[in-house]
Amino acid sequence: MIVVRVAIDMRTPTELTEVFRAQGLKVTPQREAVFRALVDNGSHPTAESVHAAVTAEMPSVSLRTVYQVLNDLTRMGEIHALELGTGAARFDPNVDAHHHLVCTRCGKVRDVYVEPVTVPASAAGFAVDSAEVVFRGLCDDCQT
Ligand SMILES: [Zn+2]
Ligand SMILES: [Zn+2]
Repeated sequence: MIVVRVAIDMRTPTELTEVFRAQGLKVTPQREAVFRALVDNGSHPTAESVHAAVTAEMPSVSLRTVYQVLNDLTRMGEIHALELGTGAARFDPNVDAHHHLVCTRCGKVRDVYVEPVTVPASAAGFAVDSAEVVFRGLCDDCQT
């Protein structure tokens, strides 16, 4: 059974600011603009689309700065970087255990919650610690 629902475990910009401070990183207005662009963003944006959203508000922010913030947040485990075969890394502020629906035509990505994937403790000698499932097909818009 597949259930699509809105993520509940997303950080607020205030929480991300605190996480950054706790790591001894300076919270600049540019970084805060990146936090705001990510929060409640269920589209799994690329760095480029985060950059586009940020520069709409603050034109001076460089793509390099956006990448740096995304990489810092990924390293801290606050967001996930995903390779979904859509041509560019996608960033996911939903760190709940979930899987993804990927449109093979337009690259749209949606979260999907399915029964947990069971992985044998040791499969072919691999010590498995995570598993993700990608469902590929056409999204609602691309089917018409
Ligand atoms: Zn589509
Ligand atoms: Zn996701």
